[in-house]
Amino acid sequence: MSETVTTRFAPSPTGTLHVGNIRTALHNWLLAKKSGGRFLLRIDDTDVARSREEHVEAIRADLAWLRLHPEREERQSARFAIYAAAFEKLIAAGRLYRCYETAQELELKRKVLLGRGLPPIYDRSALKLTEADHAAKAAAGEQPHWRFLLDHDAPIEWLDGIRGPQHFDPRQMSDPVVRRADGSWLYMLPSVIDDIEMSVTDVLRGEDHVSNTATQVQMFTALGAPVPRFAHEALLTGAEGKLSKRLGSLGVSEMREQGIEPEALIALLARLGTSDPVEPELDADALAASFDLGRFGRAPARFDDAELARVNASVIHRLPFAHVAHRLPEGMSEAAWDAIRPNLSTVAEVADWWRVVTGPIDAPEFDDETRAFLREAATVLELVDWDLTEARQEAWSFLTSNLKQRTGRSGKALFLPLRQALTGMDHGPDMKALLPLIGRDEAVRRLGLDGMR
Ligand code: GLU
Repeated sequence: MSETVTTRFAPSPTGTLHVGNIRTALHNWLLAKKSGGRFLLRIDDTDVARSREEHVEAIRADLAWLRLHPEREERQSARFAIYAAAFEKLIAAGRLYRCYETAQELELKRKVLLGRGLPPIYDRSALKLTEADHAAKAAAGEQPHWRFLLDHDAPIEWLDGIRGPQHFDPRQMSDPVVRRADGSWLYMLPSVIDDIEMSVTDVLRGEDHVSNTATQVQMFTALGAPVPRFAHEALLTGAEGKLSKRLGSLGVSEMREQGIEPEALIALLARLGTSDPVEPELDADALAASFDLGRFGRAPARFDDAELARVNASVIHRLPFAHVAHRLPEGMSEAAWDAIRPNLSTVAEVADWWRVVTGPIDAPEFDDETRAFLREAATVLELVDWDLTEARQEAWSFLTSNLKQRTGRSGKALFLPLRQALTGMDHGPDMKALLPLIGRDEAVRRLGLDGMR
């Protein structure tokens, strides 16, 4: 039977998504997309006190902006009854046990072990409590917290999609607490229950979860479910060694305000951590087709603002008019977009270049000789039959080749004053494309320097 690859992105809504979370979301989306599978969003809001509705909404909005549409959204806070049922099943199977140690007592135990040079593994002393002991605790008003009993005789192994073969000795691990004395859930068990119930086939997340996976592998088995494939990605570091500065620390909405296009973020994050080149690919399906976990290395990947800015510019230089039309200044045509986009590092900059087309512009002061040259240019340009499309399109070559012959000027002496007079700038879009947009009459006016001819 062929399985449907199912991945999930499981953020805790305790803050906004940053570049590391976005990468995890994207990779899960790509992995599912690659094999025509399903990508789910699971809001991990078991921690009711720290979870905020505004963060849930921001997560949805961020994914929508990135066009990483989940097929289904689930919230852990709506699933407590499901967890309770699985919890009972594990109690019946003898895989959960009641404990009463306070945080201070546990801390003391840890310190004693560490002081003796031993690993700080929970000593399972609560396992020795009798039913009478539990009854006495209950009578005294003490509520237990619950731990999952690791099977010490079942070595933990999995073939990690990125890290390769993994081995853990359960004897070297503490039985994890899965439920607090107040009945609230810790992350570990609900995640497994959800992955089973949502038929998740591939769990792809950061390497900070490797030790969680070690305990979760036994939970899948204890619940009678197959263990999904696991892959853990190396974490991202910023240009300065940690991801705390500049773009890397920003949320999606701030990146967007800074002019980052979703396609740029996606193209970069799809490849970051592999040795494959980052291409300004606009088609996320194409990125999915070539997405391969095996290409990701175990070394931390470096996120670099400058690289994102570069990819962003390359993406903008390829964006088709239809894609950006609604964000462009009123009246701006496809020809104008095509002429201007190679000069942009953000789409917002288009407004400045469009003003160069529509005017008014600030031309520099020219000396007498240059003014005479520009007046001559105006005369030549007036010869162009502007009603003929071809003549319009060739106006710049016509103008410059004519002027070259007439004046003997060439290179910079020929081109720079023309560009300066026509645009007020020393550099910018291709004049061949810009001149037809400015129009003959306006160009003649600019060359004649407002009636000075
Ligand atoms: N809520 C967890 C986190 O954000 C999810 C981990 C997982 O993918 O299972 O780290």
